[in-house]
Amino acid sequence: MDTEVFRAWIVSAAGVIEANRDHLTQLDAAIGDADHGINLARGFTAVLGALNAAGPGATAPATPGAILTLTGNTLISKVGGASGPLYGTAFRRAGKALGDAADVDLPALSAALDAALAGVQQLGAAREGDKTMVDALAAATRAFAKAIAEGASQHDALRSLAEAASAGATATVSMQALKGRASYLGPRSVGHEDPGAVSTALILGALRDAAQAGR
Ligand code: ADP
Ligand code: MG
Repeated sequence: MDTEVFRAWIVSAAGVIEANRDHLTQLDAAIGDADHGINLARGFTAVLGALNAAGPGATAPATPGAILTLTGNTLISKVGGASGPLYGTAFRRAGKALGDAADVDLPALSAALDAALAGVQQLGAAREGDKTMVDALAAATRAFAKAIAEGASQHDALRSLAEAASAGATATVSMQALKGRASYLGPRSVGHEDPGAVSTALILGALRDAAQAGR
């Protein structure tokens, strides 16, 4: 997967976040403060602007790692709330893990996603089962590593990644939130899907789609 695939991933992620902006905000209205879709849509619009920045002195990011680092930096600076720093850190860590490689194979992508998860957990201290984006991201990285270890094709490994992320998000419905704003609700947070887990599944679904289209 080359720089164009990673650029296509981020463009596609921005598209699905925008298309699901109201859905994400409604999920956050149930157990948070009704801003998750708004926060992320604003952030990814800024990311698209940064990726497309042209003119004197501006150079387009030239590697997969540079694309993800720019995405992370932009999300950190443009998105308020808990999710901005968390997603920003995830993308920055993934970008750093990819280094300056021009092409990313499955093991390198797996290591980058593991680094993203580690960054989110270091910053937010959420564990699996706490009803956060970690539930989608951890399930996804685990399924991806397993598929790669079993010799799956790129197509199948990315499908496993995206499906596990969606299943991880769905699994948050029955959980009680122990981190983030939703935790203030205590047991009343049960019965709702976590907005950040859903947005993580959307973003990883966009990765699968971009890599599939780019083959
Ligand atoms: P805020 O909660 O500040 O309004 P958002 O609404 O944008 O921020 O994001 C909420 C999402 O952030 C939650 O659905 C959850 O997935 C995620 N989140 C919140 N706190 C944490 C944490 N400590 N660790 C991991 N994810 C978290
Ligand atoms: Mg919120």
